[in-house]
Amino acid sequence: MYLWFESALLTTGWALDVRIGIAGNAITSIEPGAPPRPGDARHGVALPGLCNVHSHGFQRGMAGLSERRGRPDDDFWSWREVMYRFLDRLTPDDIAAITAQAYVEMLESGFIRVGEFHYLHNDVDGGRYGDPAETAGAIVVAAEASGIGLTLLPVFYAHSDFGGAAPKQGQRRFLSDVEDFARLVEASRAKLPADGVLGIAPHSLRAVTPDELAALLPLAGDGPVHIHAAEQVKEVEACLAWSGARPVEWLLDNADVDPRWCLIHATHLSDRECDRLASSKAVAGLCPVTEANLGDGIFPAIRYLASGGRIGVGTDSNILIDAPGEIRALEYSQRLAHRRRALLAAEGASVGRTLFDAALAGGAQALGVGGGLTVGSPADLVALDSDHPALAGMAGDSVLDAWIFAARHGAVHGVWRGGRQMVANGRHIAADAVAARYRQTVAALLA
Ligand SMILES: [Zn+2]
Repeated sequence: MYLWFESALLTTGWALDVRIGIAGNAITSIEPGAPPRPGDARHGVALPGLCNVHSHGFQRGMAGLSERRGRPDDDFWSWREVMYRFLDRLTPDDIAAITAQAYVEMLESGFIRVGEFHYLHNDVDGGRYGDPAETAGAIVVAAEASGIGLTLLPVFYAHSDFGGAAPKQGQRRFLSDVEDFARLVEASRAKLPADGVLGIAPHSLRAVTPDELAALLPLAGDGPVHIHAAEQVKEVEACLAWSGARPVEWLLDNADVDPRWCLIHATHLSDRECDRLASSKAVAGLCPVTEANLGDGIFPAIRYLASGGRIGVGTDSNILIDAPGEIRALEYSQRLAHRRRALLAAEGASVGRTLFDAALAGGAQALGVGGGLTVGSPADLVALDSDHPALAGMAGDSVLDAWIFAARHGAVHGVWRGGRQMVANGRHIAADAVAARYRQTVAALLA
């Protein structure tokens, strides 16, 4: 199969009149400056698809349910109570239906792979399922229904707070000990889709003791290690009270943080933590839309990127699934905080291109895959519609600036994942069926 594009962002930069050959799931040829041939499907602008480094798929089903003001001090912790009530009753089929809808929306927005930070392991009463990877299987079903690439990150969760505090009732579906978790990891590995990647995710320093963390890490093998860190000021204060160190500082001092690691959020960093995290070559998994929704705070992106820090973007709570929207929210958070413009690019450079490149490379690293359009890579492509009004007259990096800052979803026209076209004319090929099942599932849950 050959696809022809007016322009394409290749690993070597922008090229015009690009003919891309695809066989099986991979790119087999790239010819810049080539006219389309009869039978080639013609498209606008080809981009490499982005990785979504952080998702809790089931949370899509409660999007919009926690936007009513409750107590005057509503914050992350009161949102978490709503989330715990929502997940109380979810069956594996419910998880598959809701997560499939989230994944369809991810593909439609320009993501081609998701890092699923999967922590809902146990039955509704907290008992084990007969198959330890029962709900991981539901995630795989959702990935296969949507066609998105899956990096599955089974979560270890054993405690409610620093120092090994006993878990709470609302956390009963997450819990395991190290031995259970080893079984869960192996059972999850057996269910992975063909190009799936398996990592592990110690949930946070609240949920995992230092001894447990040390015992878990070998289970990752060469796979990614993801952990929530420093999302909340209260968490930083509790970590200081427990250990005398801030969460990211503690990890850097005690956990051999290296390029396999992705620290999710890392919002509240001292300057020294910021510089040390950048030097570690780990990825900071930023989720700016969720971080805004939850009132988490603002990541120190100017300093971190200037220090060479690596970033990926994630949709986390899936309150609104939007690949360019995450990048836009990241830049806008800095503008609002610093009352200046175009803060995350070097002088003269495009903000859209700078942040797209950073999220592309960091996202691929964090999810354990390669990234970019080159011969031999997976055929994971996003086609923007060059007739979209927001892209009128745009070329090169300006296309990315227009897509990220000035267009809406209609700009993504086609998405190919592993050589299969999953989005055509802006719609996922299974969007209607997946949405019908999602509506039925959520209506029953909220009834
Ligand atoms: Zn999260």
